[in-house]
Amino acid sequence: MAHAEPDFAADRARMVERQLRRRGVSDERVLRAMTEVPRERFVPTKLRGRAYDDGALPIGREQTISQPWVVAAICQALRLEGRETVLEIGTGSGYSTAVIALLAAEVISLERIAELGDAARERLEQLGVDNAEVIVADGSKGHPARAPYDAIAVHAATPEAPHSLISELAPNGRLVVPIATATADLLTAFSRVDGELTQETIGPCRFVPLIGAEGFADPSQ
Ligand code: SAH
Repeated sequence: MAHAEPDFAADRARMVERQLRRRGVSDERVLRAMTEVPRERFVPTKLRGRAYDDGALPIGREQTISQPWVVAAICQALRLEGRETVLEIGTGSGYSTAVIALLAAEVISLERIAELGDAARERLEQLGVDNAEVIVADGSKGHPARAPYDAIAVHAATPEAPHSLISELAPNGRLVVPIATATADLLTAFSRVDGELTQETIGPCRFVPLIGAEGFADPSQ
């Protein structure tokens, strides 16, 4: 007899209620998007039963799929309304790419590890996500070819405010990025309003390091 698939929709609804809504995520579009994206499709098969755990999970190459709350916090901080072109740095599994694709017009997502970027691209295609493009490249310098961007999301911690990324922000654009400090990674939002750059700290989180020309040095080099 075939085993029944676990009821992922119920797990997902519980995750949205307990991990997101009760912890202060209030943007209804973000909550709806996270109710729709099948997170179990973005984790290794043997970890599917833990797809809705309240934490990050390994996806290979020493990288992780971000904790659901972290993805929601970044998306909420971006204040997306649906018409934006978004640059994402750190595709990883492609989970956050799929969430942002539901919240914006278009996502351009950069991943430095080809194996992860290629797998994410395939997964997004299989799920029918047709407004996201995954590019294998060092995203620490941004992606000038398509700049400026209405919003930029960075999923790996930078050693300091990322100047190239800030320079690729459109007027009124928002950049959300974790900045590493001695004690924690501080999720930070930069906005460009009337030509003035403002900076606001959202809170502490843990991220893998951004590795690249304007990130940390590659430990394998
Ligand atoms: N948002 C992802 C989380 C990925 S973890 C998800 O939901 O699954 C962060 C990712 O950033 C890792 O896959 C890592 O390889 C990638 N990364 C680190 N430095 C990078 C850089 N300079 N450019 C692009 N990707 C980078």
